[in-house]
Amino acid sequence: MKTADQVLVKQINKMIVLNTIYKKRPISRAEIAKVTGLNKSTVSALVDELLTEELVLEMGAGESQGGRRPVNLSINKEVGNIIGIDLGVNYILSIMTNFAGEIIWEKRIDLQHAHNSPGQRIADLQTLIEEMIVSASQTVRGIIGIGIGVPGIVNYEQGLILSAPNLGWENIELRSMIEQKFGIPVFIDNEANAGAIGEKWFGAGKRADEFLYISAGTGIGAGIIINNELYRGSKGLSGEIGHMTVSLDGIPCSCGNAGCLEEYASEKALFRYMKEYACVEELTIFNIIDNAIAGDEVSRKAFEYVGKCLGIGVANLINAFNPQLVIIGNSLPLVGDILMNELRREAEKRCFASKYFSVKILPSQLNMHACAMGAAALVISRLYASPVS
Ligand SMILES: [Zn+2]
Repeated sequence: MKTADQVLVKQINKMIVLNTIYKKRPISRAEIAKVTGLNKSTVSALVDELLTEELVLEMGAGESQGGRRPVNLSINKEVGNIIGIDLGVNYILSIMTNFAGEIIWEKRIDLQHAHNSPGQRIADLQTLIEEMIVSASQTVRGIIGIGIGVPGIVNYEQGLILSAPNLGWENIELRSMIEQKFGIPVFIDNEANAGAIGEKWFGAGKRADEFLYISAGTGIGAGIIINNELYRGSKGLSGEIGHMTVSLDGIPCSCGNAGCLEEYASEKALFRYMKEYACVEELTIFNIIDNAIAGDEVSRKAFEYVGKCLGIGVANLINAFNPQLVIIGNSLPLVGDILMNELRREAEKRCFASKYFSVKILPSQLNMHACAMGAAALVISRLYASPVS
């Protein structure tokens, strides 16, 4: 009889094999043994189980290393689908991916100033999920899981939104509401954490061990990757950089404090600038981005101002974390160099150690999909990290 420890070791090894196939596909059993350090018979036994579960596929023969040509393995992309949701402040972006994380369906609903009541917003979310489930292709495992990125403080283990100031929500048991309705496992995380995981699995952070993902949209948050893992802090509340004080007697913030970075370097600051200098209030963020790119002077200046303020926040973070890379995501970097050049200049100017090392500051590769992709990756990583029932 196997001990609990032996069962756990086997589960971990199986996850390692599945993860290796996912990341290095196509790959042979012998190469998996070489990459993971597991012995060949263990790898073969675990691969047999994964084949029986239809999570991996044999792809035909690979390159011969002198003897018989080895059989290559890959992920069975079609085994099931995953839903990833970015629950934004004024939109919901929903994607469906296959088991390899490739987007096969997506829909965005804009909710410009429509409502903030949790009941209506959750009803919209459930309608969207229902639509996706109905339109999903028939697969062996159906919808494997639903990941949701939320703009607020989340207890990710309990699937609870503790506080989302920009939505005006407190203590919402989102996971249990969605799980009870659909009977599908649900994973919830803060949107910046989800964005960081998305960049780590699919985007600009794939090859970086230590990086910061900064979500700069309606609010500002950071997902912190240290040694290839998401750093959550002692209670899972790390990364609330939008509420880092940057002005002693500054603008009051929705969190109750004043002088928070978010008031100077987010969409809120951009809209405030446009209202003050262009006297316009009815523009969306995408209107201002388009106008700035088209050369509108006030829109460009607004982005330069916000880029400068965000650069100050980034310099503080570089001083604290010494990352290899900082990725700027969500809506603001969609304007491109108008924001990024000012941000880089300010960050370099204010970073204490910038003469000793340079930090790459890049816009997200996943653009507005980072959070939804990361939400899907929450499901994939949980699945790849635990025994498959
Ligand atoms: Zn604040």
